[in-house]
Amino acid sequence: MRIIVQNERERDLIKRFVDLLTKDGGLDALEIHDDEISTEQDCFTRLNTDEYRLLSEELHNKIINIDGNIEEMLFEDDDVITGTCKICGIQTCGRRNGESVTYSDYLHSMSKEQQDNWLCLTCHEKQQETPA
Ligand SMILES: [Zn+2]
Repeated sequence: MRIIVQNERERDLIKRFVDLLTKDGGLDALEIHDDEISTEQDCFTRLNTDEYRLLSEELHNKIINIDGNIEEMLFEDDDVITGTCKICGIQTCGRRNGESVTYSDYLHSMSKEQQDNWLCLTCHEKQQETPA
């Protein structure tokens, strides 16, 4: 199986996700869950045992390629970006422009350095007005 992502950060995310599925029993748990809901809802299993086996084998042998020309992974809503203002302590959510957030943007915004220097809009504007 070949998986194509846009950058290194996305490759790391997908690698950790696939490890969760293959090495840490995630796929087994999903198969059990699939079996349970299929029984409860009296319908066919969404994926059969052979299909789980195929996916498990393929995921173990995955190749993750990077192609900088494809679109980055996006959070549609910017509510994933949060922080606590270092001056007034107010919690903020989202970004000023309200645009979608790439995974790279998210990692950057949630980094310790960014979080330690987080400013709400009011404090940010006050700081801009104050001459250094
Ligand atoms: Zn503030």
